[in-house]
Amino acid sequence: MRTTSIHLLLALTLMTHAACAVGPDPTPADSNNGDGMDMGEDSGGEQDMPIIFPDFPLEDLGNNNPADMNNPPDGEDMTTDPPDMREEMDMMVVQGDFPKPLQVTSENGSDKILLRGLVLSPQGPLENGEVLIEGSFIACVGMDCAGRPEATGATIIETHGIISPGLIDSHNHLPYNFLKEWVPPNNQLYTNRYQWADEQSYEDFVRPLTAYRSSNSHFCPAARWGELRSLLHGTTTMMGQSFSRSCTNGGVRNADHEHELQYDHMRTTIGSVRDINTDDAQGYIDSFDDPIEPITRFAVHMAEGFEGNNVEKEFDSFAGRDERSIERHQGLSLLYKETAVLIHSVALDATQLQEVKDTNSKIVWSPSSNMVLYGRTTDIEKILELGITVGLGPDWTISGEDNMLGEMQFAMQWARDNNASSVTPRVLWEMATNQGAEVVGLQEHIGVLSEGMTADVVVFTRQTEGGDPYRQVLESNADDVRLVLIDGEAYYGESTLKGPLARRDDCEDYNACGASKFLCVRHDGSDDFTSSSMIEGLLIDILEGNGYPPEEQYGRGEDLLPLIDCSR
Ligand SMILES: [Zn+2]
Repeated sequence: MRTTSIHLLLALTLMTHAACAVGPDPTPADSNNGDGMDMGEDSGGEQDMPIIFPDFPLEDLGNNNPADMNNPPDGEDMTTDPPDMREEMDMMVVQGDFPKPLQVTSENGSDKILLRGLVLSPQGPLENGEVLIEGSFIACVGMDCAGRPEATGATIIETHGIISPGLIDSHNHLPYNFLKEWVPPNNQLYTNRYQWADEQSYEDFVRPLTAYRSSNSHFCPAARWGELRSLLHGTTTMMGQSFSRSCTNGGVRNADHEHELQYDHMRTTIGSVRDINTDDAQGYIDSFDDPIEPITRFAVHMAEGFEGNNVEKEFDSFAGRDERSIERHQGLSLLYKETAVLIHSVALDATQLQEVKDTNSKIVWSPSSNMVLYGRTTDIEKILELGITVGLGPDWTISGEDNMLGEMQFAMQWARDNNASSVTPRVLWEMATNQGAEVVGLQEHIGVLSEGMTADVVVFTRQTEGGDPYRQVLESNADDVRLVLIDGEAYYGESTLKGPLARRDDCEDYNACGASKFLCVRHDGSDDFTSSSMIEGLLIDILEGNGYPPEEQYGRGEDLLPLIDCSR
């Protein structure tokens, strides 16, 4: 796994892979909208679960003053308690240490769920917090949601975990994410995205997909496999369904298409921004100015690399300052109405980043893919200093991390190795939640846990009582994910929750690195992708060539990237 450390990574640059998606994305240049997450009556939960340690009210473990949010109480705080209380608590610490199993204390068949745990609220971590979900929406976030009238009849879950908004992947190329990493010839590094895309070995590596780039037969199971991996790792929304397909309405929420939160509001172009001519630019401007359904996000690959092929001229070209003799919308800036989403932006200097800030344009940081391909990445500290809205995205499995948790771990290690002190676990979590929501233009619906938001919610195992909860989130793997809700519906989680929460009749039991989970493959009924094993079988057939013509006998079934890397 390429997460581990950047030292390893830099060594890896000698022996590694490459690649973000570029021009090599099989997509049409413009994949527009069309193409291209009285209650007090605890009931029998305890009887269903073995009592390993004495249950105790979490409230006893510390106060809930928001001022203390960043310092979750730990055992040492208790020494001021009366002797008898202290003795009791000492016993609890010994016997009730984290992680603790979650418990369903009240089970009802309604569409209401009350989650209790450490809530990562917009104001900070809420110890002993509650999140009430009613249907598709969050009805309450706070300390006393159970007292609300709406909470009557809710299924109550003591998660003993960390409750977070679902993670948002701000940039990916989903259909490639059934493939393992690509290792460039001689483990070379590149200076920009236009170089590796021409490598024959790259083209050969991705051929099982690209040979059928226009066919749902390959695109659909490949994309769905990538979405399943994201779901298992706590991601609920992804940007990167390259183009509209009949199978996009499943898996996780797709920021680009059919996200069911508003109209499709995003356009994406994969090709070089220096290929945008005046007519194209005017067409984009018109779409941003549409009086009925204005496009609010325009995502482009910007300056992916640091030199060569004029990558350093891409930003100025996009801003209407391309002085070539061929017309390239000179004077017509596409840094327009705060729509621009600039993916990578490795080559942007401080002056250009200031312009990004001044135009309230957004940036997506993909450190793992950048480091693997180019040995350097975006000036993230300057971006944070300027206060630019920045999301995080692994890019794709061909050169980047396999999922958002992996990308957060990679970024944290990169920050340690490069003394980037402004990159903290909480900052990375914000990139992956509220900031990511801004980047993909869905900030009015997802990315924070607050009343009225759509219930895309993830619960992570709380490994220790003290310490930084944001760090605990980013150090999680799929087996540490206790529950994933999209639109208030459970799609993945502890097997204990399958009965109370799984609403579909085709949900499966799932072994996540030895942890017993359930998995419901989200689908809309119009496709056949109803189980993980079924999708896996289709992809192995593609990689092996089973049932395909002689020239497609790849014999590469072992190249199928598993849904979870249990070696982490
Ligand atoms: Zn990309």
